[in-house]
Amino acid sequence: MQPGSTGHAFAQAGIKRRMTHFTLTQSYAALPERFYAPASLTPVSSPSLIKLNTSLAQTLGLDPAWLASAEGINMLAGHTMPEGITPIALAYAGHQFGHFVPQLGDGRAMLLGDVTDTSGHVREIKLKGAGRTALSRRGDGRAALGPVLREYVMSEAMAALGVPTTRALAAVRTGERVYREIPLPGAVLARVAASHIRVGTFQFFAAREDHAGLRLLADYAIARHYPQAAQSAMPYLEFLENVITAQAQLVAKWMNLGFIHGVMNTDNMAISGETLDYGPCAFMEHYDHSTVFSYIDERGRYAYANQPSMALWDLTRLAEALLPLLAEEETVAIELAQKALNQFEAQFQTAYLAGMRAKIGLTQPLAEDGALVQNLLTAMHKNRLDFTQTFRTLSQTEVMQPTPERAEHTQAVGAQLPASHRVVSTLAEWLPAWRHRLAQEGAVTLAARAAAMQAVNPLYIPRNHLVEDMISKAIRQEDDSAFETLLAVTTNPYQEQTGRAQYARPAQPHEVVEHTFCGT
Ligand code: AMP
Ligand code: MG
Repeated sequence: MQPGSTGHAFAQAGIKRRMTHFTLTQSYAALPERFYAPASLTPVSSPSLIKLNTSLAQTLGLDPAWLASAEGINMLAGHTMPEGITPIALAYAGHQFGHFVPQLGDGRAMLLGDVTDTSGHVREIKLKGAGRTALSRRGDGRAALGPVLREYVMSEAMAALGVPTTRALAAVRTGERVYREIPLPGAVLARVAASHIRVGTFQFFAAREDHAGLRLLADYAIARHYPQAAQSAMPYLEFLENVITAQAQLVAKWMNLGFIHGVMNTDNMAISGETLDYGPCAFMEHYDHSTVFSYIDERGRYAYANQPSMALWDLTRLAEALLPLLAEEETVAIELAQKALNQFEAQFQTAYLAGMRAKIGLTQPLAEDGALVQNLLTAMHKNRLDFTQTFRTLSQTEVMQPTPERAEHTQAVGAQLPASHRVVSTLAEWLPAWRHRLAQEGAVTLAARAAAMQAVNPLYIPRNHLVEDMISKAIRQEDDSAFETLLAVTTNPYQEQTGRAQYARPAQPHEVVEHTFCGT
């Protein structure tokens, strides 16, 4: 393991179980009992593998052949566990749509433990949908196939797009039905994360005024995610600052991609800065900053454009929870927390604008770039241009600098791809200002600029209608080939793939998905 790698100290301190096929460390279980509840197993009728993420398994030092064996599948379904693994359900609280719930916790997820990946990073494996736990409240502890496949594709696509995220290790069918108004096939997702510690985990202890628990949790999170903060004169303040920075950068990446998380409750915000809990999330198609897909988000609390301010809202709840650790005097603690929170907006703006600059092929920051980006977005909004397709179209050399022959070529491209032609003609007023700005960038060849832009502007994203289509095929026809194809296409998002043009285009009017659902 590399020195200073995340979680090193705690991985060593945890209880080590040597399985035949991998080493699992249970560092969270080494924390006091009030941090979690032991999770007992609920056998299922006939677990079967839908998909194993072989390359991720290998990165984690897990044997894919064993995971795909009967014993491995039984573990992934939460059906049986290899000797020595004692799953736990983690306690947490959270603000859901602004309302505080003091006890949420893993109602349908269980933590198996930690593995150390080939780069020395500690990652934990969790099963989502593996049955009831002590924290299930009235839920059945199960997950339906649709949301499991959705999370698998979305999280793997996000990873391929370079966004910090939890990962999908495997999806299995349980062979059982779960009831969500109608009976649906049950499934379990094996999820991998740097950790599942949430803003809501801190709120859980803060709400109970359990300052000792709060401190232990903060020390664990620091050692695991931000070990350099431990060296600081004010480790808990530095920890807060690190989480703020990680979230500012994360949400900027979402915004750069048109991603809408959909349910940014404090129990769904990871301290690690990873995208966590793929419920009603979706990628925006035509650009509209007020876009909301989630059926339950009636007031648009988590609309596309609200995401930065909602992230800050959540971080403010984290800061409140941490107050007892920041300073003895509450007024001093509040002042420190406020100063840290005040950094968020500038950090977000800087990261967001850097991302947008790269999307339009700029490498050197100039003061007017913000306005250039804003004018583009305004034109996109007015003309309902597809977010992803617009930026990809701008990445074509012929759009960057239309000489007469290139203009002809653009026409030809336009004839083949009416949508991209529409992008070019719709942006006719904006393009000259952009080209003028590109000329100020100095000696960059068109080909090099196109390549750089195509490396940040995906051609393929998991569009809502493709996700819905893949889910309905998997449910109705027990046909996972649409899932396999969508996964293959969207985990190679920047590279044009032959015969896959239909995956690059926005929904046609009859395919448009207006609402997405949590599916819990
Ligand atoms: P989510 O909306 O998935 O972030 O979940 C919010 C809370 O509800 C968490 O505490 C979950 O563990 C819990 N929950 C969601 N679905 C279920 C379910 N089917 N059974 C038990 N608990 C659930
Ligand atoms: Mg959640």
